[in-house]
This record gives sequence, C-alpha cells and structure tokens, in this order.
Amino acid sequence: MNKGEILQYFGKHYENRYIVYVSSIKSDKNNSFFIVKDNNKKYLLVIPGNEMGRQFEGNILENKKINKNEPMIKLCSLNHNNLSLLREIFPYLNPSFCGLQSSFGTGDRLGIATPAHIQAFKDKNIFPVLAQQSVREMARTERNWQKVLDDAIWGCFEAGHEGPFGADADHVKEIKDLKDAVDCGYTMFTLDPSDFIRKDLSKLSKKEINNLYEQISERKDIESLYLKKTYKIKEQELKFDEKSLQEIILTYSEALNHVVKCYEFLKGYKKNDFDLEISVDETPTVTSPLAHLFIVLELKRRGVDFQNLALHFLGDWQKGIEYIGDVKQFAKEFSLHAAIAKKIGGYKLSLHTGSDKFSVYPIFAQETEGLCHIKTAGTSWLEEAKVIAMKDPALYREIHQFALVNFEKDKASYNLTTDLSRIPDIDTISDDKLVNLFKQNDSRQLIHITYGSILRAKDNVGKYIFKDRIYQALFRYEEDHYREVYNHIRRHLELLVSI
Ligand SMILES: [Zn+2]
Repeated sequence: MNKGEILQYFGKHYENRYIVYVSSIKSDKNNSFFIVKDNNKKYLLVIPGNEMGRQFEGNILENKKINKNEPMIKLCSLNHNNLSLLREIFPYLNPSFCGLQSSFGTGDRLGIATPAHIQAFKDKNIFPVLAQQSVREMARTERNWQKVLDDAIWGCFEAGHEGPFGADADHVKEIKDLKDAVDCGYTMFTLDPSDFIRKDLSKLSKKEINNLYEQISERKDIESLYLKKTYKIKEQELKFDEKSLQEIILTYSEALNHVVKCYEFLKGYKKNDFDLEISVDETPTVTSPLAHLFIVLELKRRGVDFQNLALHFLGDWQKGIEYIGDVKQFAKEFSLHAAIAKKIGGYKLSLHTGSDKFSVYPIFAQETEGLCHIKTAGTSWLEEAKVIAMKDPALYREIHQFALVNFEKDKASYNLTTDLSRIPDIDTISDDKLVNLFKQNDSRQLIHITYGSILRAKDNVGKYIFKDRIYQALFRYEEDHYREVYNHIRRHLELLVSI
C-alpha cells in the first residue's frame, strides 16, 4: 500500500481512536509501518505483508474488515525488540559515522525531543548527533545507553528521518562504559580523561614539581621530541621551553596514556568506523594554545585516530546561558586554536556546554571553517520545562519550589554563578508570566541543573512525584513541546552562518 492508501484505509476504520504521524509512514516488501497515538501513548502500527512483518510483537487490532481481503493491523508497543526489527528493515535507522563534517549534538534528557531536533536540522548542512548522553546524565535521569539510543531512533522513525545521524556516548571515563556503548551500537565516543589530568601544579613548590617530573618515565623521550622546538602558527611562534614543556607533560601525560588505552580498546572491539572525541574541557584551567598543540601532536604520534577535540576555551562557560567573558578576547585566542587545528589537520574542534552561547557561534564556525562540533544538552530540557510552565503552571510551580530546595546540593558538580536571591518569588508571578523565568539566567540555571533530582523524586510510597506528570504534560501538549524545542535549536543552527 502507498501512503495515501494506508491513510485512507486506516482512517476509514480507526480515525476516531488514533492520530497518525503521517511522516512516519513507511513501506517495505508489502509491509507497512507507522506511528500513531491515542490519548495516552504512542504505538507502532504494522500492516504485515510477509513473515518479517508478522514478527513484530503486538496485538491485532479488533477486526472491522469490510471484506475478507483487507489486511490486518497490528498495534505494537515501542519496545526494543520491535525497534531492532525496524532497524533491520530500514538500515538508515542505524546511527552512522560522521567524520569531518560539521556536526551538532542535541542531548535529549527526557528522550522525547528527537522529532523536534530533526526538524531544526532541515536544509542545514550539519550532521545531527541525535543520541548524546553522558554517563553522569544517565545516572541522573535513570536511563542507559540502550534507552537513550532507542528513544532517539523512535524519534527518527516518527519524523520520517532517513538518516544520517550519530550516537555519542558522551564523557566516558572507563573502558567498561565504552564496551557497553559499543554493544548498543553507538558510533561516537567521547573520552574524558579528566581524572588523569593534573590539576594541582599551581599549589606545589618547585621542588615538589621537579620530584613529580622525575617520576615520569617517558619524559626524556618526549623532551627530545619537543624541547626548544618552535611552531609558526599564524603570525605567532609557539615554543616549548623547559618550563612550559615540563608543566604540560606533568599535566597531560597520564591523561594521554589513558586516552591511548581507551582508543586501543575501541579499535579492537568496535567493528565499524567510529568517531572519537577527546575532551579535556572539564578542567579547572583554560587549555593554552601550546597545550593544545602538544595534545594533538602526541595523539597523532601515538597513532590515535580522533575526529574531535574539546578544549577548555577562554571565558566562563556556564550551563544554559550566554557566554560570560570578553568575546573579542575569546575570538583572538580561539583564532590561534583554529589555526593550530588547521595546521595539524584531520580533526574538528568541539565546543561543550555549547547551548545558548549565541555570541560565540559565528566566531566558532568561521574560524574553524566548519570543522567543528557543538554539544548542547540541558537546553532542550529547559525548553521542555518552559512548556510545562506555559501549559501546566501548577505543576511548574511545584517543580520550581522543589528545585529551590535541591539547588545547593545539586550545584556541586557545576561551574555556576547562580544567585537564587535574584529569582523573583514565584508566588508573586501570575501564571501567564511564569514563562519569563526562562529569560533570566538564575532561574534558567536553577531548573537546568536540578533535572536529576526533579526526575528521580519519589513520594513515600515510591511513586515519582514529577516524572510521570512531566511526560504526560509534554505528551498532551506535544505540538507546543516540539515547536519550542525546534525554535530554540534552530536558533543555534542558524547562527553557524558559514556552514
Ligand atoms: Zn564536556
């Protein structure tokens, strides 16, 4: 059956019970598939035409056949087994390698924003990384690699997206997590060696530093490669003198060893091409151009084939709000990083905590000439919370009060300058003005970072206090949900002007 016939046939019998996602309708070898929803949830509908179609798990819809030649319809749940069958039939539902194309990651903490994300990428020459979650985020949202990937793929199917897209196992620190992500089918791996980066050098005496340095067995070999060497980058000369090289080796050598170990594992374990990102962004200090140069030269020398590098760039990068710092100064220093990347070649620069940094996007895209990757995550969650504030103000008020109580505890792992006293008392704000809270940095960050506590909160009989109601509200107001997320992510993508 073609799209029109399916709609006509289904509409004739079930119009009043289900709403069809028209863009999801797909057929293959006499089997037809599409997504519908009733008042409570979404389903996969299968009109099987052969054995493959009959393998889907589900219930045959009550028979309202007008004549006996009409096909049966199966109502199937959006579960992992059914998705695996769909991925076999439609291989474009599998995530794929991105390489050096411009790319953008849209983390999706609730797992229901993918259709809106896909819409935002329309007509943009930017590779979407639709499944992207860090180990830390998954602990906070009680999700796992498989669930994150499955949710994104169901979103692709609903939207009729025929690929490509990537799946990023973000901020992975341990090989066992890499293994799990490979097993689930992830295509991109972001290694976070921050636990191995030395952060205490500024607090140590010269003697202590020298002692530590003596303990690095490979220091002589590394020195012979870099000491007193200069690199002409743009109009500047970057030189490894004794002091700077010692500091860089002490700071990064253990981290690089860890990266090499992880890479060797991935190379042996992952059968197909994969994108590898090295992230040293979660460090207390800004990555200097000289350290950047050292990291990439060492990675290349040691045979690590990486596509992305995330550095800690100059300025204050906080969650869910604009860049804090001197944009001109950032532009100046960043142009040097971009020039290093260009000179060494073969990799993209990656910007983490990239959401809402509208003032630096044009610089980032232009200087890298599109050899860039950007990650956003919590900003889609913020749009979702905003929709709750717009459509279910009573629920939002409860969430807001709960977030205020949990903020102190939850802020520990973040770099923030949030001042809760600047957030107006929510009891003095009328329902129609709640949305303004999402224009103010302090209230944005309040909701941005407390997501884990909000989603995991349970009452004394073990029932979620907010989670189910959040999903229900966003299901009910799906059009508003998709529109707000689309608008916000689109605004990000539009600013990557030179791509
Ligand atoms: Zn990061």
